[in-house]
Amino acid sequence: MTSPPPFAWDDWYEMVGGRSIRIPEVTDLLQEIYNHQYPRFDGEVAAERRRFGSPADAARHLKGKALEFGADIVGICEIEPSDVYRGRVISDKYAIAVGQRMRWREFQVVPSKASAIECLRVYFTLGETVIQLAAYIRSIGHACKVEHPIGDSDLLHIPIGLKAGFGELGRHGSIIHPQLGPLFRMGSVITSIELETDRPIDAGIAKFCDSCRACRKYCPPGAIPDERSPDAGKDHLGYDRYVVDTGRCFPYFATYSYCSICLPVCVYNHKEWARDFEGGETRPFPTVIMLSPAPPTDLPDAERRHTYPKIRR
Ligand code: SF4
Ligand code: SF4
Repeated sequence: MTSPPPFAWDDWYEMVGGRSIRIPEVTDLLQEIYNHQYPRFDGEVAAERRRFGSPADAARHLKGKALEFGADIVGICEIEPSDVYRGRVISDKYAIAVGQRMRWREFQVVPSKASAIECLRVYFTLGETVIQLAAYIRSIGHACKVEHPIGDSDLLHIPIGLKAGFGELGRHGSIIHPQLGPLFRMGSVITSIELETDRPIDAGIAKFCDSCRACRKYCPPGAIPDERSPDAGKDHLGYDRYVVDTGRCFPYFATYSYCSICLPVCVYNHKEWARDFEGGETRPFPTVIMLSPAPPTDLPDAERRHTYPKIRR
């Protein structure tokens, strides 16, 4: 098996008794995404094609456009079969990965209504960024496809983000960016325009996780592991991966405002991004609400369980 099945959201929700998070702002943002962003994923490709002098020129130009359309970070990588969910087909060669930070001030209490809304807000604004970037690429005569940050994408965002140089894989299963920490979301636009690619980084972050266990300590259902799993494949630096137990995480995540505790408690937020760039008062460590976790659960069909694939680097 080289890639996992798509995450079976509906089946997982069914196992925990349905969707119980009812926050009007979250519902409104989800409706905006499904009703007004999904229909804009496709579009006409202009007949006149812009040619670039080199893959480096093309990459520079499109990265500039992504930043102009609202990305905080952008990187490019080649798509490998293991980056694609099982059963999905992708013929494009490159992913232009984009990320947007989530605001630290909204994660001062977790789980909370504010943190849940912030997650959805960034899914929405990042959705606009990838839609605008895709529309631009089509307007210069090149086909492309949107891989939206939320829901049912064909592409696994995490291996793509690692290869695009966004950061390193943390113990909590999210990418840690050297400046943004793990408080950001990712999406991408895929295309076959020849592009210069970025490289994975090694800033010592993943190694640091071996001695830091903050996220593990604060994860209420104990979903974050103590040790790396030699059976789970390597991360992009060749380390055995930490495997988060989805069957423990999901019931908590689905019950308590998408949880998110492991993101703001991660010590990599406690550098420059601990400050609020819009001038608001913030604290360096969030208030963590540790509620009773539901019993662990799992999909009965092991073949459909979701694990990240081995990253061939
Ligand atoms: S989201 Fe919450 S339950 Fe899931 S791994 Fe993070 S801290 Fe644990
Ligand atoms: S809290 Fe510590 S162990 Fe967990 S991901 Fe962040 S740096 Fe790694």
